[in-house]
Amino acid sequence: MRRNRSTKIVATIGPATSDKEKLLELITTGVDIFRLNFSHGAHADHQKRFEAIRWAEKKSGRLVAIMADLQGPKLRVGTFANGPIELKNGQKFRLDMDKTPGDIKRVCLPHPEIFKALEKDTDLLLDDGKIRLRVKKFGADFAETEVIVGGKLSERKGVNVPQVALPISALTKKDREDLRFALDLGVDYIALSFVQRPEDVAEARKLIAGRAAIIVKVEKPQAVDCLDRLIEVTDAVMVARGDLGVEMATEDVPGIQKRIVRGCRRLGKPVIVATQMLESMITSPTPTRAEASDVATAVFDGADCVMLSAETASGQFPMEAVAIMNRIIEKVERDPLHRQIMDAEHPATEQTESDAMTTAASNVAHTIGAAALVTYTTSGSTAWRAARQRPMVPVLGLTTSLVTARRLALGWGIHPIAAKDVDDFEHMVESAVNHAKNSGLAKKHDRIVITAGVPFGTLGATNILRIARVG
Ligand code: PGA
Ligand code: MN
Repeated sequence: MRRNRSTKIVATIGPATSDKEKLLELITTGVDIFRLNFSHGAHADHQKRFEAIRWAEKKSGRLVAIMADLQGPKLRVGTFANGPIELKNGQKFRLDMDKTPGDIKRVCLPHPEIFKALEKDTDLLLDDGKIRLRVKKFGADFAETEVIVGGKLSERKGVNVPQVALPISALTKKDREDLRFALDLGVDYIALSFVQRPEDVAEARKLIAGRAAIIVKVEKPQAVDCLDRLIEVTDAVMVARGDLGVEMATEDVPGIQKRIVRGCRRLGKPVIVATQMLESMITSPTPTRAEASDVATAVFDGADCVMLSAETASGQFPMEAVAIMNRIIEKVERDPLHRQIMDAEHPATEQTESDAMTTAASNVAHTIGAAALVTYTTSGSTAWRAARQRPMVPVLGLTTSLVTARRLALGWGIHPIAAKDVDDFEHMVESAVNHAKNSGLAKKHDRIVITAGVPFGTLGATNILRIARVG
């Protein structure tokens, strides 16, 4: 099953989309990557969903990637004795380590590391930034604050502390347990929440030990500050606009989104634009014009993927959300302006054999109007470099590794296929032609452009470019 678009769709799975027939329908409607959100649900739920996705993948005949998104050090207040409280502007409110249920004067904030990092006049943002508290006095286990922006506060609401770098690892005890579980399931990607520095990625990489690829979620100003280094050490990036928009001013988010997408494109790392893309579709069968335009903007920017969260996890119209997202992407990518933008923002070819070959292959494909670019790849690297070109034709990522193939599902324009090894040149050409034809990327009399490395089976040695005609 081929897609008629290059930008991929990530869908978060939840109660609204857990049964296997629904998952199969999601794939046929357009989902390329499924996200298991470990902020919600028990391990048993995730396991069931994981197995159902693999069932649906097999039925659909199209490889999909599965991402486990770890909650990360999401800070939360404790509980209240008598239900939600109403904080008034100007009043005093205390946060401390006392586990006793709170009231209008105080509540528990069970995170000693926050108190250590506080400074006078640090702002704490509660419940998605709706409430703002300013620290006036603090000690090792408490903070006296003034309510700057009040409102209703219920138990377990999130707390963001954008102004200070917190001395905490990006992996909590829960994350480590979830990570072990997700790796045992066999997920393709691990998404790390609230990353602050490259060391956070290094720590996770050690634990993951090659069993999955890493997605850094950029949702803190500290991550934005070391963006280039983060892109270098990660395998992929998510522009996590939900928390990013709490930690930074809303008006900063669009510019940062553009910077992240550009930085990723330059380095050839896949990038996902996430959160609130079709938010109103949680309860409505059609999106707003502004939402349609937001999806289109990410596509015009050249992002690899756009993502749905609650729209597909718990919304009333998950299938409609995927269908409309698919249609918006298809439409934008057919707009002549889209091609102009892709070409105008073309990153430079690096002086490596593999980049020289993929650039040449992409040029040849454009010049002769080939139907597809077929890359033989072991690690996936050649296919990622080809996707970085944002070529006009689809990239068929042919690899003997099922793990590599599934990871490639994230890549712009990549149609991933796990195939048997080829042992000689003629066989290689024949197999490329057959796969291009069977996947619907090319038809009789079309031409395809193939890149491969000889001798076969050697890592990182793309050195052959061949034009073939589909018979
Ligand atoms: P979340 O991450 O949905 O796990 O919070 C995405 C975001 O913050 O945008
Ligand atoms: Mn987040």
